[in-house]
Amino acid sequence: MHASLSDYAATALRLAIWLVLLTALFVPLERWFGARHAPRPRRERLHDLAYYVISSMVPIVLLSAPTALLAVAAQHVVPAALPAAIHELPLAARIALAFVVGEIGFYWGHRLSHELPWLWRFHALHHRAEHLHFLANTRAHPVDMVVTRLFGLIPLYLLGLAGPSVAGSGAPALLLVVGTTWGFFIHANLRWRLGPLEWLVATPAFHHWHHSRNDHINRNYASTLPVLDRLFGSHYLPRHWPAEYGTDTPHADTLGGQLLDPLLPAKSGKR
Ligand SMILES: [Zn+2]
Ligand SMILES: [Zn+2]
Repeated sequence: MHASLSDYAATALRLAIWLVLLTALFVPLERWFGARHAPRPRRERLHDLAYYVISSMVPIVLLSAPTALLAVAAQHVVPAALPAAIHELPLAARIALAFVVGEIGFYWGHRLSHELPWLWRFHALHHRAEHLHFLANTRAHPVDMVVTRLFGLIPLYLLGLAGPSVAGSGAPALLLVVGTTWGFFIHANLRWRLGPLEWLVATPAFHHWHHSRNDHINRNYASTLPVLDRLFGSHYLPRHWPAEYGTDTPHADTLGGQLLDPLLPAKSGKR
């Protein structure tokens, strides 16, 4: 199957439209409700654009082979009665189940990306940002994007909530869209506290603590459901905001270096 020039043009147009919409939404909100930051260098803003494009294209390309394998493997590993029983559930229950198990898978993929040095090499790039803003969401190494997304998808395939058919690709596609859209919000420079809602959904304050430059970087792994961090003992959400963001793991200043260095022999795996 070959993508035609018009497919690429349509993808580029879709990405551009989304970027315009996100910018129109978040830039004024961050100006009104965010902490004041010095303007970022032009190179950093160009990197934002590059990572936005990379994050939109790369996972689709790199995930197709592993998810196809996963679909076949799941059919051999899981007793057929389990996906059959889940298939009997009403659609709303299946969507809710897919959302929760996908989020549990993502939680552990993200947590292991902090706890295993060979995964942290790739994930550290996402923690490089010293000022958070909505586009920090897409700043991630392609290997990191694939690992965390795969962790989110594995339980869906095992439970028969995702599969090789067009219908089977609906749940993962929906979750990726919801997760990514929410990701822009929780990275945004918005000094909002949402009261009791903070129990229910991840918020900027919740995820900003995950980006803090100290011990709390190993807290708040969930992308949408903070109750998972309460369940697995990694929740941290005081009333105040982090003083500093970033990581001590060294990074190249160039885009090429940021993408290539984690693939080369280790210089440092420290957080
Ligand atoms: Zn992280
Ligand atoms: Zn983040």
